[in-house]
Amino acid sequence: MTVLVTGGAGFIGSHLVDYLLGETTDRIVVLDDFSTGSADNLVHLETDRLTVEDGDVRNADLIADLVSDADAVYHLAAAVGVQTIVENPLSSLRTNLEGTENVLEAATADGTPTFLASSSEIYGKSEAVPFAETDDRVYGPTSTTRWSYATAKAADEFLAFAYHDEHDLPVVVGRYFNIVGPRQTGQYGMVIPTFVEQALAGEDLTVYGDGTQTRSFTHVADAVSITHELLDTPAAHGEVVNVGAPDPTSINDLAEAVIDRTDSDSVITHVPFEEAYGPDFEEPDQREPDVTKLREILGWAPEADLDRILHDVIHERTDGEQPTGQAPDEEVTTQ
Ligand code: UDP
Repeated sequence: MTVLVTGGAGFIGSHLVDYLLGETTDRIVVLDDFSTGSADNLVHLETDRLTVEDGDVRNADLIADLVSDADAVYHLAAAVGVQTIVENPLSSLRTNLEGTENVLEAATADGTPTFLASSSEIYGKSEAVPFAETDDRVYGPTSTTRWSYATAKAADEFLAFAYHDEHDLPVVVGRYFNIVGPRQTGQYGMVIPTFVEQALAGEDLTVYGDGTQTRSFTHVADAVSITHELLDTPAAHGEVVNVGAPDPTSINDLAEAVIDRTDSDSVITHVPFEEAYGPDFEEPDQREPDVTKLREILGWAPEADLDRILHDVIHERTDGEQPTGQAPDEEVTTQ
């Protein structure tokens, strides 16, 4: 069977490609515009089962062609990272809205099973943790650019449900909660690669705000196997499911864990949000998935595993030479 992975050269996409090549006999077609994705993420894969297309998900004809040759589609291509959204609001909106509509419309022609990547950002600044899929979404005003990402992803989800309900499209939506791991770059502001790079360089770790905000970090290896299982499970079609580990960590604790784990002399500096992201910035204070539905559908949910995440992210930046001080499997304390 042939599987299309949009955004397959990106951080999560390339791990999904690894997983599919390892766990299935499928032929994989990657579509990526290499804006935030990178050919380096796929360079280790030498197989005639993989084809890489350089192209834009906003190109409806290209999408129609690629989807018509596919037996399943994972739609991961998107403008990602708070910094990318804040700096490029128009192209981010267009990629995230038009790209998804093109994929869903094309998949409808043959009823091709489709996975749509959504985000925990969907819950906005709701404080009703843990977030269940049916919970209310709480956003700030349209003058605050950050919320355009959540709004576009919410529109994508509405589109997915509409295609499912009106055209019987077998589509499942996964809401990713701060997926992290090797190959994620700090270039777009993501916190774990940023902190690890700062700690290894002996620079201050830039904790935004007072650092009490929480995130539920989820290892990319768990995220991609869940992604595959969800698309493979007919009971999940027409559903939206949280994909995350239900154990939040504060950003202050994360920074301390990174310093500890890298045995770094770096110190923590608190940076006001406005300085980091510009004026009128708003920040979700807490983020934690309710994984009841994920467990019901798949029978399992990821465990919080900051130790493994930090080990893997540090390891790839130190050529396997762990910084002194700790063995790779030693526990990292996060309160
Ligand atoms: N953050 C931080 N310092 C950084 C980058 C991010 O303190 O250099 C914070 C950010 O404000 C947020 C959390 O870390 O509270 C996670 O940020 P990220 O951009 O990784 O993901 P988000 O959850 O904001 O989408």
